[in-house]
Amino acid sequence: MIFYKTEEEIALLEQSNILVARTLGEISRRICPGISTLMLDQIAEEYIRDNGGEPGFLGYDGFPNTLCMSVGKQVVHGIPSSYELKEGDILSCDCGVLLNGFYGDSAYTFSVGEVNPEIKSLLKVTKEALYKGITNAVEGNHLGDIGYAIQEHAEKYGFSVVREMVGHGIGKDLHEDPQVPNFGRQDRGLKLRNGLVIAIEPMINLGKKDVYQDEDGWAIITADGLPSAHFEHTIVVRNGQAQILSSFEFIEEYNNI
Ligand code: MG
Ligand code: MG
Repeated sequence: MIFYKTEEEIALLEQSNILVARTLGEISRRICPGISTLMLDQIAEEYIRDNGGEPGFLGYDGFPNTLCMSVGKQVVHGIPSSYELKEGDILSCDCGVLLNGFYGDSAYTFSVGEVNPEIKSLLKVTKEALYKGITNAVEGNHLGDIGYAIQEHAEKYGFSVVREMVGHGIGKDLHEDPQVPNFGRQDRGLKLRNGLVIAIEPMINLGKKDVYQDEDGWAIITADGLPSAHFEHTIVVRNGQAQILSSFEFIEEYNNI
């Protein structure tokens, strides 16, 4: 069942998502070779709590931490650990927050120092694919138009779209209906209307699309061991248009992107 949101609920969702955006901004200032993903996780938890929120992922289905931290060949759902980032790594940092009864959810893939040109291109194209998807999240379009736009852009550059993991509705629950695949056909699926709030989150692999789940029961990993990128925004269809509720501005203003 899809819960279409009122203006009041959208305002609360915006606050949750801005706290997510600010948390990712804090993390981006601390990413450097030598810092562990667990240390970054602790910084995020403290920042969220200091700002009146609760970590949205901590304890969700038993997830043990605040952030999903996925390095290199890990696609999503990596558990923070003592692993220390090194020059040339990429790190997908996925953050969820619960504030005033509503969830925010957004993710960004960071480069640690200089990464090779192929990986740089993967990051650029995955972020572009996210915005292509968002551009299609307008009243009267269908869910399939979002997935189609993402897939078309990623595959144009020879990258591949993970099929098993998808975006989702979001509100009082972290994961609500509908599912939002990053692949699809135009004019297919749910027709979009005002009040729909969804997280759009392409997971794009440098190599083949196949993934498996790590024996830790969480991390999703590329089968060919090549890197994967992940960018996510929470958006609302409002006044017929897509409005982004999360933001990358706190990351990008600091990192001059
Ligand atoms: Mg997320
Ligand atoms: Mg999500």
